[in-house]
Amino acid sequence: MEFGWTQEEAAHRERVRAVLARVLPPDWEDIARHGPGSDEQTAFSKIFCPALHAEGLLIPHWPKPYGGQDESIWRQFIMAEELWAVGEPRGPQYMNVNWVGPVMFKFGTQAQLETYLPPILAGQAVWCQGFSEPSAGSDLAALRTAATPVEGGYRVNGGKIWTSYAAQADTCFLLARVPAAEGVSSGKAAIVILLVDMKSPGIQVKPIPALVGQGDIHEVFFDDVFVPAENRLGAEGQAWEIINYLLQHERVGIPRYALARRTLDRAVARLKSQGRWDDPVLRDRAGQALMLCEAARMMCYRVVDGKARDLPDDAFGSLARVAVVEAENGVSAFLTEFMPDGLLGGDPMQQAHHQRAIAAGVAAGPAEIQLNLIAQRWLNLPREPRAR
Ligand SMILES: Cc1cc2nc3c(=O)[nH]c(=O)nc-3n(C[C@H](O)[C@H](O)[C@H](O)COP(=O)(O)OP(=O)(O)OC[C@H]3O[C@@H](n4cnc5c(N)ncnc54)[C@H](O)[C@@H]3O)c2cc1C
Repeated sequence: MEFGWTQEEAAHRERVRAVLARVLPPDWEDIARHGPGSDEQTAFSKIFCPALHAEGLLIPHWPKPYGGQDESIWRQFIMAEELWAVGEPRGPQYMNVNWVGPVMFKFGTQAQLETYLPPILAGQAVWCQGFSEPSAGSDLAALRTAATPVEGGYRVNGGKIWTSYAAQADTCFLLARVPAAEGVSSGKAAIVILLVDMKSPGIQVKPIPALVGQGDIHEVFFDDVFVPAENRLGAEGQAWEIINYLLQHERVGIPRYALARRTLDRAVARLKSQGRWDDPVLRDRAGQALMLCEAARMMCYRVVDGKARDLPDDAFGSLARVAVVEAENGVSAFLTEFMPDGLLGGDPMQQAHHQRAIAAGVAAGPAEIQLNLIAQRWLNLPREPRAR
């Protein structure tokens, strides 16, 4: 088995690094410390994404008809690793290029493509994902926000929670429920996707104070919000197919272990410079954290390899996601124990990493759900009978 990179891939990585070194300002790490949903990162993303586009690096993985270069998934992943390793300077706009665009190509109307793609290409669009509700997180199909059909569109009533970037967003990718029609089940089949202008009358956004970074998560309330019918993505009842497609793009596009590894390497360099590297316990713990990062990297490469060869999805997607969470948490635990000064302000990237790591096992779906899938599909364990 060949684990090395081709010359062309290695050159691509070097080019991405050179562009980042040129485009990121000297105070980038201070900006990153505020968190991806902060005013600072959002404003910077609107400078950074156009600069990336000018270098041909914003959407190279998109199909040619939509302005991309049909770039291979491996090159895309190299790019994502380098961006994550420096703290993801695309901020909230990572979603646009990872999944909003690809979902539009597959399911959007011509008018939706013309409305939503140009601001993404200009590096000025901020989206938020209105999925979770107080009683519908892991069990997303239980969502209750109502979209009542009215002349020309829908009236939306309900609330979302944990919505990242909502205060900055122009558009919400909203899941809501239409009244169950005769013959249509009330579950997944009654969910509809609406692309909602966040300036619509009746929307209220409330930030939730959190350790994960300033302005990152919010509650969003919809009070009789009118959404035109042309803003529905796909057909009523098609939402679940679209969500599954979206989640595949969302999860493979984020090599979160890269920031954990970069932060660990920096910490080890500092520990050496402080003369602490001879401590055998510290070295053992650093080695364990490194091992978790490398395991996560290899698991993710296995998933990318499957996608590059068009193999059907298998349990490695779940294994990789759990491995990434373990890597982020392992590095965080090591740093918190041996370098607490970094977390308290001594190293902005350690703070940025920690903010992301504490949410890693929850955001985008809890790791425990992936463990369930591994138990059922990989280990063939029986489902536990429901308690009576
Ligand atoms: C930083 C951050 C950003 C987020 N951004 C967004 C966003 O932009 N948009 C959005 O819609 N949502 C967002 N979320 C919400 C996230 O998707 C949900 O928190 C997640 O899906 C879990 O849902 P929940 O919080 O309702 O927890 P629950 O589903 O109630 O789960 C609580 C805990 O119970 C356990 N659990 C639940 N079900 C099972 C099961 N079947 N088997 C085993 N254990 C189980 C899990 O350990 C889980 O941690 C974000 C969350 C965070 C932390």
